[in-house]
Amino acid sequence: MQARAAVMPERHGRWILDTVEVAEPGPQEVLVRVVASGICQTDVHARDGFFPLPCPAVYGHEGAGVVEQVGHAVTTLKPGDHVIMANPSCGACLECRAGFETYCSNAPMLKQSGYRADGTSLSFRRGQDPIYGSFFQQSSFASLTLATARNTIRVPDDVPLDMLAAFPCGVNTGAGAVMNVLKPQPGDSYVAFGTGTVGCAGLLAAKLAGCDPIIAVDVFDERLELARNLGATHTVNATDPQLVDEVRRLAGGRGAQWCLEAAGVPAALRAAVEVLAPRGTACLVGSARAGVEVPLEMRTLQQGRSVRGCIQGESAVQTFLPHLIALYRAGQLPIERLVRHYPHAAINDAVADMLAGKTIKAVLQLGTA
Ligand SMILES: [Zn+2]
Ligand SMILES: [Zn+2]
Repeated sequence: MQARAAVMPERHGRWILDTVEVAEPGPQEVLVRVVASGICQTDVHARDGFFPLPCPAVYGHEGAGVVEQVGHAVTTLKPGDHVIMANPSCGACLECRAGFETYCSNAPMLKQSGYRADGTSLSFRRGQDPIYGSFFQQSSFASLTLATARNTIRVPDDVPLDMLAAFPCGVNTGAGAVMNVLKPQPGDSYVAFGTGTVGCAGLLAAKLAGCDPIIAVDVFDERLELARNLGATHTVNATDPQLVDEVRRLAGGRGAQWCLEAAGVPAALRAAVEVLAPRGTACLVGSARAGVEVPLEMRTLQQGRSVRGCIQGESAVQTFLPHLIALYRAGQLPIERLVRHYPHAAINDAVADMLAGKTIKAVLQLGTA
């Protein structure tokens, strides 16, 4: 079987569309014809060599498509099912068994080794040459790819796959951090640091929870305007030298009960802690590279403030993602306002727009359902 894949030939390189050979699905695997894939910061970290998988490689970890074929042990999916591919986990380690699959002990291997879940075989080849893939056990930048049944989620046929491709990582991470971790109550104050996909999804979830005020902070004014349209009651540009005082004032003087740090920037995490009310919590979801440190003034934690992080919204993908999709179908999570579509071949332009802040959620179109 052959696929068209956006292949990264070398670290820090440019993606090249190429034809690759796809392996047959193993017993627990699913062969998916990818219709659309979100692009996220983690794909850019991969491009720049921050993960172990070697080049040439196929990334992409927000795939949406149609099942072509299933392995003989797969009972939950069948050919023709519309699916999204999400965060992988092993299902057997202590964290998975405790219901916290996003902290799976085997996640580094499953996400970033370049190999399938057996740890030794590859999804793709080009002639005799290896192409490393199985990125998040999906490598959704290929038009035909292998996933595990465990990280493949059936979705309704009547929801456009090129919208659902925003959900597996970006929307899941922001909405999950609010719904599964922070759990705000109506009338609570909420601050979004960073209004990319993750920050906007968190903001929409905070609005659904009835938070008020909702304050959005970003360096891009056009993103702040979008945040207002999505439900932010106030916005502050992150370059404002009085940022902390201003956010505290807008949050009623006492400070904010909940902050989501979705910028992945040290100054944003520090500000997220400093604007908190007594007993408030700042949750870090922004994707920072290894070695990035944040100086905190120690006494800022003395007022009962908490700082914690979470990954992938701390969600159980097989139940939480269908819940989010149901909210989207009901018009309560207007994700279409974040998405901009690009042809598969325009992946380099899509990433450039994303990094320049011109696009909130870039979604590649690889085919039709
Ligand atoms: Zn596990
Ligand atoms: Zn991601």
